[in-house]
Amino acid sequence: AKHDGGGRAIVFRQEMHSTASSRLDLESQLRRALDNRELRVYYQPVVDIWTEDVVGFEALVRWDHPERGLILPLEFIPVAEETGMIIPIGEWVLRQALTQAQRWRTEAPRALNPWIAVNVSTLQLRDANFVGMVADVLMQTGFDPTALHLEITETGLMNDIGANLKTLHALRTLGVQLSIDDFGTGQSSLSYLSLLPVQTLKIGCCFIAGLGGEDPHASPIADVIVSVGRALKLTVIAEGVETMEQLQELRRIGSPLGQGFLWSQPLPSEKILEWLGTRLP
Ligand code: C2E
Ligand code: CA
Ligand code: CA
Repeated sequence: AKHDGGGRAIVFRQEMHSTASSRLDLESQLRRALDNRELRVYYQPVVDIWTEDVVGFEALVRWDHPERGLILPLEFIPVAEETGMIIPIGEWVLRQALTQAQRWRTEAPRALNPWIAVNVSTLQLRDANFVGMVADVLMQTGFDPTALHLEITETGLMNDIGANLKTLHALRTLGVQLSIDDFGTGQSSLSYLSLLPVQTLKIGCCFIAGLGGEDPHASPIADVIVSVGRALKLTVIAEGVETMEQLQELRRIGSPLGQGFLWSQPLPSEKILEWLGTRLP
């Protein structure tokens, strides 16, 4: 600006500039991250809330940045979505997860054949090649389609429900299972829910955090979601379970499955076999 003599305006501009340039850095580094093999898939177990047996794992991407170390998805997934890089990144995560999980399934035959859940951005869902890509990766890895769960957030799903419905039905034809992630944070009405070809609802961390505390009715939402799941014959997974009190409350309200730090943080593939080993009889 020509006549902003004040120091504040200049400071503000420099901040804008440095934010924009670090954003550009992140963007160009992310473009190279895939080729440089800097992305990692971590896995977090999903357990039966009563027996605490492992029934599946959720694949969660991390970026092992050469200077900054491990970067969490909240920092780079939005950039990947804005730039369209989520399409090749999402494909890589799916291929990597199914390749690694196929290995545990053969190396640890006693380990219950856990399913694998992979997060899908709505941008991927709207990509015309998405269903074909999933079919190709399933064929190339030999992974059992019925043991693949695709997680889509409720907000993303409801954004363009007409177009998304077609894709969801095509995915079901492949045999894969569909989950609504962070259910209860979006705008879906119950009548829509009964029309969606989904099998699982995930209760987000925010509805679990208040459970089992001082106030016994702190989070009636989790209770409601479990009831909705039961009425529509959908599986329910409570996410972000951190304490025994939360576990007890989830048993009381009847959530069948749980996931959270109480059992394990997300772990790299090589730790999964080890971790399964400690939990086998
Ligand atoms: P999400 O799908 O809701 O994943 C659950 C998040 O909760 C993960 O964060 C997980 O590490 C964290 N978490 C697990 N247990 C606990 C707990 O007991 N307490 C608390 N407070 N948090 C817990 P993460 O790995 O940082 O991922 C954040 C989000 O990034 C994910 O949320 C998902 O929306 C997105 N994301 C991760 N991987 C991918 C991916 O491959 N593709 C896409 N499109 N999105 C991804
Ligand atoms: Ca998820
Ligand atoms: Ca979630």
